[in-house]
Amino acid sequence: MADEHLTDAEKEKRRRARRVQRLKKEIPIAILTLILVPTILAIVFGIRSHQLKMQVMRLQEEMQDLERILDQQAEQEALYYGEYTGNGTVITDSEESDVILSGRTGIDTSVNVEGVSSGKRHVYLTFDDGPSLMTDKILEILDDYGVKATFFVTGKEDARLVPEYARIAEAGHTIGMHSYSHSYRQLYASEDSFKQDLNKLQEYIYDLTGVWSHYYRFPGGSSNTVSTVSMNLLIDYLNEQDIVYYDWNASCGDGASGLSQSQIYYTAIRSFDSVPEDVDVIMLLHDSYDHRSTVAALPGIIEYILAQDNTEIVPITDDSVTVQHRKAIQTTQSED
Ligand SMILES: [Zn+2]
Repeated sequence: MADEHLTDAEKEKRRRARRVQRLKKEIPIAILTLILVPTILAIVFGIRSHQLKMQVMRLQEEMQDLERILDQQAEQEALYYGEYTGNGTVITDSEESDVILSGRTGIDTSVNVEGVSSGKRHVYLTFDDGPSLMTDKILEILDDYGVKATFFVTGKEDARLVPEYARIAEAGHTIGMHSYSHSYRQLYASEDSFKQDLNKLQEYIYDLTGVWSHYYRFPGGSSNTVSTVSMNLLIDYLNEQDIVYYDWNASCGDGASGLSQSQIYYTAIRSFDSVPEDVDVIMLLHDSYDHRSTVAALPGIIEYILAQDNTEIVPITDDSVTVQHRKAIQTTQSED
């Protein structure tokens, strides 16, 4: 009403003043909105992306668990389906696998040539899957008993584990290869992926230790049923590379998870005792943080073996007998 007495200029001035007033309220709200909305979105997306990351990690862990289970099953199968015949030949129920326990150059009855000629039965302790946070402890125990073993290692890049390769080698143990990735899916995807993995590990070990390893243990053993590539092709490739592969004829059973120290001890002893006395023993054990019970059982296992007559624990060398669940067809024929 008061406006009626105002001039147009004054009315315009008041309108402007009101507009400015309004803008003064709206601008901070707009600015706040511009800041808040992206912030909230960033938080929401951040949380979501974290959740997804965790999910991916969980899935990766699950995948690794599944691979480990496959690994364990294959190793168990290879061990328990393998049977001794009187002449030191191991047979499995797998039709295509030509399973023999043979001397380095001979076949079946020539087993244990080295053991017999040296007058002692040889026992090889072989640790798969290391190095791990347990490697130092294993080395310490082996040192306590003055025995040398063989470590079939994988490719570990963890800064805590990298120095272990050299420690194993410097302590006088044999370093063998057990694949860089230890991923069945990758390793056995094709002949090429197997070759790449092998070369990578061989060079990795050489860089860290100066040792050019020429011993191999297939993840799951040579009689594994997981590989989609013919194992014979892979074995041929190892032969070409002058690499000898080793399976096992005794096991502490730690491929199965959750065994106690005493279960592992008794499985190892039973398994050891089941090998004919005139045959060398290659015992499968694991070097991993998941296998702390194996480490706890190790002193007892070593003491049991050392208490046997005429028996010594030795590392794998070029003179060792080989225990192979499967041999390449070509190799077998050439030995006929
Ligand atoms: Zn393994």
